[in-house]
Formats: sequence, C-alpha cells, structure tokens
Amino acid sequence: MEETTDINRELMLDANATAGLLYEIFGVEMTAAPTECAHCGNEDELGTLLAFTRGPGVILRCSACENIVLRIVQTPDETILDARGAVYLRLARART
Ligand SMILES: [Zn+2]
Repeated sequence: MEETTDINRELMLDANATAGLLYEIFGVEMTAAPTECAHCGNEDELGTLLAFTRGPGVILRCSACENIVLRIVQTPDETILDARGAVYLRLARART
C-alpha cells in the first residue's frame, strides 16, 4: 500500500526538534546519526528528517521522498518505535 506524501509542511519541524526524545530512547545524541531511507535509499543524518510532532506520537519522514522513516509513540508505560522505513540506524558508541 502506498503511503500518501500529501503532507502538510506547515505542521513540520526538522528532526532536531525531536533530539531530546531521541536521546531519551537511544541514550546517545542521535541527530548526527546516519540513516538510510528504505523507500528511496536517501542516506543522511537523522537530524535532516522531517519531523511531525502534533499527531499522536512523532513521525520522522525522509527529506527526499517524504515517506515515513521512523514512528515513535509513547504511552505512560512504554515507548513504541517503528523503524521499518529505515534500512539502518548507526549509533555512536560511548568511549570510556
Ligand atoms: Zn526516502
């Protein structure tokens, strides 16, 4: 099923606006983390994704094809991360 790309850019923030949420989930700074869009193969940093934060949860879309790369929903008890739109996420490891 094709997802609509008829998105409202007025509701859009860039993913740096979700940096705090990503840090909470992954425990490392994520805005510079490389990722690849599973739809179009665009490779870029997480911070370049288009963030939509006004719905239930946060949606991060590819800046090239506008398909959904990451979906994050939080309830009082858990965080649900749908990453099927990403080929990979590369997280820096802390050096101790
Ligand atoms: Zn894409």
